[in-house]
Amino acid sequence: MSMAAQEIRIRLSDGEARTLDFGTPEGREVYWHSTSHLMAQAVRELFPEAKLAIGPPIEDGFYYDIDIGRPFAPEDLQWIEKRMKDLARRNLPIEPLALSRAEARALFERHGDKYKLELLDGIPDDPISFYRQGEFVDMCRGPHLGNTGQIKAVKLLSTGGAYWRGDENREQLARIYGVSFPDEQQLADHIHMLEEAKRRDHRKLGRELEIFIQSEDAGQGIPLWLPRGATLRRTLERYIVDLELQLGYEHVYTPPLANVDLYKISGHWDHYRDNMYPVMKIDNEELVLRPMNCPHHIMIYKHGQHSYRDLPVRIAELGLMHRYERSGVLTGLARVRGMVLNDAHIFCIPDQIKAEFITVVEMIQRVYRDLGITEYIYTLSRRDPANKEKFAGDDAIWENAEALIVDALRDLGLAYREDVGGAAFYGPKLDIDVKSAAGKYETLSTIQVDFLLPERFDLAYIGEDNKPHRPVMIHRGVISTLERMTAFLIELHAGAFPLWLAPEQVRVLPIADRHVDYARAVAAALKARDLRVHVDDRNEKIGKKIREAQLMKTPYMLVVGDKEAETRSVAVRHRSDGDLGALPLDAFADRAAAEVSARR
Ligand SMILES: [Zn+2]
Ligand SMILES: [Zn+2]
Repeated sequence: MSMAAQEIRIRLSDGEARTLDFGTPEGREVYWHSTSHLMAQAVRELFPEAKLAIGPPIEDGFYYDIDIGRPFAPEDLQWIEKRMKDLARRNLPIEPLALSRAEARALFERHGDKYKLELLDGIPDDPISFYRQGEFVDMCRGPHLGNTGQIKAVKLLSTGGAYWRGDENREQLARIYGVSFPDEQQLADHIHMLEEAKRRDHRKLGRELEIFIQSEDAGQGIPLWLPRGATLRRTLERYIVDLELQLGYEHVYTPPLANVDLYKISGHWDHYRDNMYPVMKIDNEELVLRPMNCPHHIMIYKHGQHSYRDLPVRIAELGLMHRYERSGVLTGLARVRGMVLNDAHIFCIPDQIKAEFITVVEMIQRVYRDLGITEYIYTLSRRDPANKEKFAGDDAIWENAEALIVDALRDLGLAYREDVGGAAFYGPKLDIDVKSAAGKYETLSTIQVDFLLPERFDLAYIGEDNKPHRPVMIHRGVISTLERMTAFLIELHAGAFPLWLAPEQVRVLPIADRHVDYARAVAAALKARDLRVHVDDRNEKIGKKIREAQLMKTPYMLVVGDKEAETRSVAVRHRSDGDLGALPLDAFADRAAAEVSARR
């Protein structure tokens, strides 16, 4: 948001008034928290028997968990929203209020507010902090808006179930989600953005475009790639592996199983065990599914003798890893339990860090250009000098590494944000955060400098002085996991992939049965140019065939009938540009092949 500050006036629990900017996370939090109270007030007025539980602000709005003995219906949400607007217009002051424990208890007992009574038991304070607006009081530390009139635009978005205290053995409550803004236009923009995100949702498009499925029988968070999805993925895999080979990486294969001792040495067992699957005892070994590929690549580095002349050694793999994610956060291809990371580890002399860093950043820029990713920001995560014990390694090493990265970023002429304290415990890192279809930034690529693992695994190279020295390790991921990148690309392109990525690039549509042979000859000629082609030889009307190809977001549709068969040509339709007229078959093949190789 680039607008001027939108001032909101708030009141703290001690009565002090202050102003905040709605454009800041702190400002939005207070604003949305106050809107959740406004919703609770409206619900209490419309459903006097309602029992209120909790109503916090969240990242993009607020919710309140409420027990009315049944779910809320869509009409309920309309009434509640209307009542909220009335209450906002009345511009009720929102004031802090201290009640003694006995008064608070009496108040909740009067309403039968059993959830609030349970919450009260967990609060040691006396008196207890409340806020009042009109007739309505809610137990809360605040702060809150100074009055309801500042809530100008409200939308209740959805309703669903939630267990009290997140415990499935406790009462089922109804949760209402909503959002609010100080101005109508902002609300309209936000709703438009939500609709756009829904339209592009990779779970919906992934099913419609036959990219992947979720199978309850296979297990949660274990998506299965369909042939079209596999084609898209294989295209990405070949692209990135070829590029890495060109840039001097050596590709390896290592299995997803390993002896748990590797992760005890690396520190993952101590720091990361909650995200790992349990140990399997087999023969005399204790095996785990690996959560990261680093130790395997370290074993490969250790296998050889390395002289300073051989460095950097760049070991790359599309490495399968398994991470335990809670079932609640599993999302399509974006959050899964088994994933393949575009991983590499660069083993280098400290003097080479800067040059390697620059090469990786340039590689990321090139890959993003090819994938059509244009909006992203760089974040340099440093050590927090006031909190050194959280980070391994001494001052000189950290200062040197951070200086090298800053120097590399300056050479590249890149603007970046800094996150002090955001470094990995083993070294500083640069994250590249990409803007998603829902307008949020997520980290897709990362470059991390690591001094710790070379130490723990006792890595060495022979220096010019003929003595062993410690190399530095750079962990880097360019296209993230294939699962996550695919989810991201589906949403970024709304399923209409650039030609080079499209699972099906061309569909040939014969007008009648007698044109099927020519259609097959067209497909064969295009396949010989490495294009991905299908023939729709069903006995269907041409209009229907075009509509279906269009729905699958097929970039090119070639209609062939008598005229085309006689002149060895094709009538070309593009999914977004429409009818492009007739072209000789060879001319179309040249055009499409050029578009693929330019990755336009
Ligand atoms: Zn509150
Ligand atoms: Zn690594």
